[in-house]
Amino acid sequence: MSQGALTLGDMAFSVPYTLSPSKVSSFTDCALAFRFSAIDRLPQPPAPWSTKGTLVHSALERLHLLPAPERTLDAGLAALDEAADELHSDPDYTELDLDDEAARSFHEEAAELVRRYFQIEDPRRIEAIGLEVSLDVEVEGVRLRGIIDRLELDADGELVVTDYKTGSVPSVQHERKRLSGVHIYSLLCEELLGRRPARVQLLYLKQPVAIVTEPTEQSTRGTRRTLAAVWKAVERSCDREDFRPRPSKLCDYCAYKQYCPSFGGDPDEAREVGLAAKAEKAAAKEAAVTAATAAA
Ligand code: SF4
Repeated sequence: MSQGALTLGDMAFSVPYTLSPSKVSSFTDCALAFRFSAIDRLPQPPAPWSTKGTLVHSALERLHLLPAPERTLDAGLAALDEAADELHSDPDYTELDLDDEAARSFHEEAAELVRRYFQIEDPRRIEAIGLEVSLDVEVEGVRLRGIIDRLELDADGELVVTDYKTGSVPSVQHERKRLSGVHIYSLLCEELLGRRPARVQLLYLKQPVAIVTEPTEQSTRGTRRTLAAVWKAVERSCDREDFRPRPSKLCDYCAYKQYCPSFGGDPDEAREVGLAAKAEKAAAKEAAVTAATAAA
């Protein structure tokens, strides 16, 4: 780290308020990328794959809000069109700055993901009891937050957690990691609803394939241990101001590469950008409050 940045160097890293399945996975993938995102809170420019993921999630949420018999493929594609109309004015889409051809491919790829979803399951047979469910609970002294794409009851009345994935199926080694994230959702459910889900499933729409796991007493204990260990490691990293880069294939998708020392960047610059973004956000919030007060 640069020795010249005295002001920043004097500031310890603050421990984030919460953990989420994605933050746990981010920290274990690369501590430095976690720092940029969860601690420096660097704004992330939108990327086509994440915006497409948001669009498809929104279409599937709309589909499952329909009465069961109406959840056909045509209804799924109509839900996608509705979600796309809404997305078109969103900065996550407009800032992609897609030309006509790129926009056509973007929408066609999203439609293909919706078609493939129907190859995995028949939505008319799903009894969702919650869509995009926000969960927030304290476990092992850690404030945990997460959003479950779909919570449902199976034919035996057991809870099932479903998470849609619009990326590729991970390798066997990464599959365990992704599943450990899903076990965190299971733990969140168990803590809040008092019942362990019978199944947790990841629906990879691209392939299309479902990866299913059945949480047990043992996996729940393991998840608790993992969470406590990750939280301790995060605290230690904040305390020592030590977040190391861990180059991997994920660097190809990393939004913070320009600040990463493994690619010639300076993490202190990221800290400045993060502080400036935070100040800008606070000023905009204050201005909005002042405007609202004046209008009242
Ligand atoms: S570029 Fe790679 S090593 Fe650097 S912060 Fe991003 S993920 Fe980590």
